[in-house]
Amino acid sequence: MGARPLLNRRLAGLGTTIFAEMSALAAATGSINLGQGFPDTDGPREIAEAAAEAVLTGRGNQYPPGPGIPGLRTAIAEHQQRFYGLAYDPDSEVLVTAGATEAIAAALLALLEPGDEVIAFEPFYDSYAACIAMAGAVRVPLTLRQPSFRPDLDELRSLITPRTRLLLINTPHNPTGTVLTPAELAAIAELAVEHDLLVITDEVYEHLVFATGHHPIAGLPGMRERTVAISSAGKTFSFTGWKVGWVTASAPLVSAVRTAKQYLTYVSAGPFQYAVAEALHLPDGYFDALRADLLRKRDLLADGLSAAGFQVFSPEGTYFITTDITPLGEKDGLEFCRSLPERCGVVAIPNVVFYDNTEAGRSLVRFTFCKRDEVLREAVERLGRL
Ligand SMILES: *Cc1c(COP(=O)(O)O)cnc(C)c1O
Repeated sequence: MGARPLLNRRLAGLGTTIFAEMSALAAATGSINLGQGFPDTDGPREIAEAAAEAVLTGRGNQYPPGPGIPGLRTAIAEHQQRFYGLAYDPDSEVLVTAGATEAIAAALLALLEPGDEVIAFEPFYDSYAACIAMAGAVRVPLTLRQPSFRPDLDELRSLITPRTRLLLINTPHNPTGTVLTPAELAAIAELAVEHDLLVITDEVYEHLVFATGHHPIAGLPGMRERTVAISSAGKTFSFTGWKVGWVTASAPLVSAVRTAKQYLTYVSAGPFQYAVAEALHLPDGYFDALRADLLRKRDLLADGLSAAGFQVFSPEGTYFITTDITPLGEKDGLEFCRSLPERCGVVAIPNVVFYDNTEAGRSLVRFTFCKRDEVLREAVERLGRL
């Protein structure tokens, strides 16, 4: 092959995701993996049985309908009504996707022209940067800075230009755990309306909010027709491998996103769609218990990290804790995370990989607490030896 690089210019620099690198390191060193955010216990037994039953009774084993099976689309619409009082038409305003990841990709590919600017909170979930790049658009970071990790709304206003097309928000926010308040959401919504911007909102941690409650921006004045709301079953039901996600939005937005989605996977996860429809109908007790359990785990890990000398930013939502390693006499999170498995048998994620302004994230390190208590206790003990 000639001198031309194989990887195209849009994807240059994206490399391998940090999760692949760190999970491989965890496996190679036998370390406790508090890097990638997946639970080490599966979701409800009866939901797993519903998936098995669907396979065995031949439901969803062949291509399901493009927008998702009707029962799941209805369950998603009912979920939005039950928890947030938002009404969506299951036929025209709901789209089932291959996880939230495909929904994000399809939405960005469908809604952006090359050169459009997308303002996204930084640190950002890694697929945002990749998908904005694949769409040929330009990402404009709004940096969430420690110790509060709250968005500076004046700065947000100052970042909007005539080329801004879209705001990409994530609440509860991975990796900082920030949950946007109703006042912050209202201010963001006002800017979106004033500048006629679209909003994509990633709400995959909607049920992992400890005290404040989750508030969808789609419910605010002027927002319904400009918001693409994205969520998925992975985090809420502890089945991250099933990859069942969804979009709720106005019919024209769903139609645009579906146009891209149908040429990405077309459809996916047939039998799991039946099981997730059941999961969305679980009683409130399920969601309350999930939250209470994770709150306890948050405090277990946060206390342990503090005792080990980390500066801990306790999250309002998600199952991640961001820490600063400066008090340990360390400066560089990437170096720290690469050496941590050897030093004490624990794997974490350096937040710097989620930043364009790398200076703002250099000394930050993320740990997940969606693991069994004994695993968290063992991790804390190991980290205490640092
Ligand atoms: C895990 C995660 C996703 C991906 O969700 P899937 O349903 O597994 O595709 C998207 N956004 C954020 C912020 C996440 O943490």
